[in-house]
Amino acid sequence: MGQRRQAGKTIAEVGEFSFLARLIPLLRTGRGTVVGPGQDCALVRGPGGLLLTVDALVEGVHFQREWLSPHQLGRRSYLVNASDIAAMGGTPLFLLASLGVPPSYAARDLSQLYMGLARAAREHGAQVVGGNLTRAAALFVSVTLVAAAPRRVVTRRGARVGDRLYVTGTLGDAALAWRLLGRRRRAAPALVRRFREPSPRLRAGRFLVERGIVSAMIDVSDGIVQDLGHICAESGVGARIDTARVPLSTAYRAVMGDDVRLALHGGEDYELLCAVPPPNVRSLERARPRLGCAITEIGEITATRRVELVNGNGTKYVSAVQGYDHFCMRPGAAAPPGRRRSSSVGR
Ligand SMILES: [Mg+2]
Repeated sequence: MGQRRQAGKTIAEVGEFSFLARLIPLLRTGRGTVVGPGQDCALVRGPGGLLLTVDALVEGVHFQREWLSPHQLGRRSYLVNASDIAAMGGTPLFLLASLGVPPSYAARDLSQLYMGLARAAREHGAQVVGGNLTRAAALFVSVTLVAAAPRRVVTRRGARVGDRLYVTGTLGDAALAWRLLGRRRRAAPALVRRFREPSPRLRAGRFLVERGIVSAMIDVSDGIVQDLGHICAESGVGARIDTARVPLSTAYRAVMGDDVRLALHGGEDYELLCAVPPPNVRSLERARPRLGCAITEIGEITATRRVELVNGNGTKYVSAVQGYDHFCMRPGAAAPPGRRRSSSVGR
């Protein structure tokens, strides 16, 4: 995008309209888009029911600039939204990107950010169809994502007593990377990758919903205990997690051993947590090779109206289904990313 002319210039020097005039042609649109970026509104055609979600990443709250290149930040801004779509079995279609940028931000970096966003979306068949650019004190990226809804609807509400609890992938890697980076300690590349590049479980989410295997589902963004609490509160049930069964990566174990606290409370996992009625467990087992990721049984839905964490030695910890727990907070520690909506980095 006019890289030579923009090289070294800030966005204030290039100017909003000049920047956008060069950016917009690069945001290729295609199927379903009638009017793309650059007009007052986009006009799109969807295939039927649509899922809509919005989420923002804010400098100093969700990330520090030195932790992510502009391209990686753009990618991540899209991927965390796609995870919400995965939790309801949808297929991303269109997105609007609203960016707040300090005037001193390099125009080239801003181009890279947009390209990261647009490329990550394109990998899932989604298109940037519009957005907004504004001056701001801190860098932020807010993405509104529109997705095709599956034929059936699964929300956080359908869990019933006796349902088995499953989670995709491994937990705690991104939170551990966040903690180590925040303390300026070395973090294994495998951990940093999980923070920089979440893997929204779109394929698994779509399959589990379309096949009617799950009764309730949520993506794990604020820590599995917190997010399980949302399923319990919405469904009017409780749950028990066997902490010894929580899936941990080799890289996580290398730092934390068997300490599962960050895996339970850390957040930023972007895995799927779902409730599976016992008659559907066989279907789930058969579906394993088609999900595109690992899935692990970690507990069950109970009638207690609280989330219990148990291991071989009995119940270790109990939280009310809607309460926030400070288990992870220690004096002088960076706030766990799971509390990112109300915390600042390095607090
Ligand atoms: Mg979510």
